[in-house]
Amino acid sequence: MRKPIIAGNWKMNLTASEAKAFAEAVKNNIPGNDKVDSVIGSPALFLETLVDAAKGTDLKIAAQNCYWENSGAFTGETSPAALADLGVDYVIIGHSERREYFHETDEEINKKAKAIFANGMTPILCCGESLETYEAEKTAEWIEGQITAGLADLTDEQVSNLVIAYEPIWAIGTGKSADATIADDICGVVRQTVEKLYGGEVAAKVRIQYGGSVKPENIAEYMAKENVDGALVGGASLQTDSFLALLDAVK
Ligand code: PGA
Repeated sequence: MRKPIIAGNWKMNLTASEAKAFAEAVKNNIPGNDKVDSVIGSPALFLETLVDAAKGTDLKIAAQNCYWENSGAFTGETSPAALADLGVDYVIIGHSERREYFHETDEEINKKAKAIFANGMTPILCCGESLETYEAEKTAEWIEGQITAGLADLTDEQVSNLVIAYEPIWAIGTGKSADATIADDICGVVRQTVEKLYGGEVAAKVRIQYGGSVKPENIAEYMAKENVDGALVGGASLQTDSFLALLDAVK
């Protein structure tokens, strides 16, 4: 039985004072983590504020990116060791916006995954296809390629604990969510790829989220599907009431 995981992805939104007010408003209403893992993915600037606000609650905090080295001459980068020291639990990696605008490659994403595990945190590794790939009916092979490269050389134990987010690029921020059956099918492709690489036991443990225009009104359709273990949510995670409604829908 895989525990659901709902993660907000704030992207480059909110200010420090808004982030603090958000955490204060939701922290006493987070469902027990025996039922669901509740996560906010915040800009690096507010991570410390959020970790502090979440202390003693079941709210977990995610960074949206990090580097793969723990320290050194890498101006402007964020150290995974520093994130772990702060009390960050998850790091989102390989989001399509980072792949597209910041030219992140599968190889870099794989290095980040290893560094995140080495520092005792959990990666939320994103994959997803463009509209062009979707329309050409090449989604399955595209996803298989991203997962195979992203997971290279990870151990069975690491992959068992990993979270993978399937986010069709054409459904992100567009209001055009993928039909729940499509989401389930492609999350199934992710699971089959993990099975091919790591075997059935690991594939049965890895948690797979759907992401792309998920909101309180449609989350139940996705969560009802066999291969969908949670959601990565952008726009609808930015208001306290809809964030809590997403958690309530799965608890
Ligand atoms: P959205 O974003 O929920 O606003 O579509 C999802 C994401 O990019 O993680």
